[in-house]
Amino acid sequence: MQIYRLEALSDNYIFLLHDPQQNIAAVVDPAEAQPVLQKLQDLGAQLVAIFNTHHHNDHVGGNQKLMQHFKQVKVYGGAEDRGRIPGQQVFLKEGDRVEFAGRSAEVLFVPGHTRAHITYYFHPESKEEDETGDLFCGDTLFAGGCGRLFEGSPAQMVESLSKLCNLPDNTRVWCAHEYTLKNLQFAITVDRNNADLQSRFAEVKAARSQQQATVPSMLGLEKLTNPFLRWNQPALQSAVNSHDPVQTFARLRGMKDQF
Ligand code: ZN
Ligand code: FE
Repeated sequence: MQIYRLEALSDNYIFLLHDPQQNIAAVVDPAEAQPVLQKLQDLGAQLVAIFNTHHHNDHVGGNQKLMQHFKQVKVYGGAEDRGRIPGQQVFLKEGDRVEFAGRSAEVLFVPGHTRAHITYYFHPESKEEDETGDLFCGDTLFAGGCGRLFEGSPAQMVESLSKLCNLPDNTRVWCAHEYTLKNLQFAITVDRNNADLQSRFAEVKAARSQQQATVPSMLGLEKLTNPFLRWNQPALQSAVNSHDPVQTFARLRGMKDQF
């Protein structure tokens, strides 16, 4: 399975999954149709699936136009999003599986950003040690940050992010926005003595000054540097004056909303 990262709107990423053997494709969160249609044309591939993580327009905005071009396409989304995702035909719950290009993806229910948000975790292609899994996490986990809480509580989001933390470190994190630099600018203000964070920040600054993408990131690096996965760390707890993980998360999220 080949994964292509397409730019859309002002800072969205759409991910196109291509199976070169059958020359079919699937797309994750098509914010708009045009970049997807262009890539499909370049590849000469048929679109068979749309995997949506949640109902926001910058994730489903291209659904309808893509369905018009590819009548057979199947539209997947969370069961709780029924009625909110254009064209949705498959209603996924925690633990369900979807298949594409010989890879199997597990569905994780991760409410918080919205009440219906799901993520797709594609297990590694083989058992070999350097094989990575691929997590398509929408607006739940970002490189260096996490989504705003529009329809969920801090406790829910902590539980959702904990689920993602249980995946192997060697997992590529395909999040739906290029927010990394801004996220890390905030992170260094609350996790001041984190050497891994300092060096990541320097790398991201350099990459962004040359318009390079910072997505995908790796889950292992997120655990070391993303403040929104580090509610158990004494440094983060003392930065927000709390000993409680959920309260620590909530305060960090509140500070970031104002940042
Ligand atoms: Zn969203
Ligand atoms: Fe979004």
